[in-house]
Amino acid sequence: MNKPLVSLTGVNKWFGENHVLIDINAEILPGEVVVVIGPSGSGKSTFCRTINRLETIDSGEIRIDGELLPEEGADLARLRSEVGMVFQSFNLFSHKTVLENVVLAQIKVRKISREAATKRAMDLLKQVGVEAHAKKMPSQLSGGQQQRVAIARSLAMDPKLILLDEPTSALDPEMINEVLDVMVQLAKNGMTMVVVTHEMGFARRAADRIIFMADGAIVEESTPEEFFTNPKTDRAKQFLSKIL
Ligand code: ADP
Ligand code: MG
Repeated sequence: MNKPLVSLTGVNKWFGENHVLIDINAEILPGEVVVVIGPSGSGKSTFCRTINRLETIDSGEIRIDGELLPEEGADLARLRSEVGMVFQSFNLFSHKTVLENVVLAQIKVRKISREAATKRAMDLLKQVGVEAHAKKMPSQLSGGQQQRVAIARSLAMDPKLILLDEPTSALDPEMINEVLDVMVQLAKNGMTMVVVTHEMGFARRAADRIIFMADGAIVEESTPEEFFTNPKTDRAKQFLSKIL
């Protein structure tokens, strides 16, 4: 059997009185593309953020490639560098060039020479179609271009998986597809991805599996085919009727 790359077992999290992750059990297999959908406030971002320990959990365990995600320390830093994260807001360093944004972490975290890091960065910028803008500052790029740089930066760390939390939600409509196309390409290249998105076209096209969350729990898990044509729960039916 395929060993899971990520596994969450009995994960619970509270924010104060608010039980935001309720007994979450989930596995992500190598090469799998899992799309997480659900209403606002259902815990999708928290789910992603716990996977690279941007949020602590109150009970349960999370393993990356079989290794228990520690509370802190060098092992956490190493495991975290194996999990790329792309946010809704692009989070690029605004005072660094596009190229430098993709070069820096390679030098600092992965201890790669500047020369090798620059070569790798240019290859990745080309892969996401923004190599012509390498010398510019992020603010000179469109939102769609900036988000593609953020994806390239994440890939530069050679992560075992990438979490993308609503990567197109902050974009003007005409820029959404250029980012989704890059994501589809990544998926085709075998990258393991967890994607929170409201882009149902992407979910149908690229997802191996849909996780539907509501009120902090995983309510339904199925193939896109099943989920969109024959949702099992009323909660999912209700959600789909609002967005489709
Ligand atoms: P989603 O991404 O599905 O919209 P979130 O994971 O952001 O949901 O939020 C789940 C719940 O946790 C919501 O009730 C939200 O208000 C709450 N929450 C999220 N982040 C925090 C935080 N840093 N402090 C307190 N409550 C939070
Ligand atoms: Mg969210």
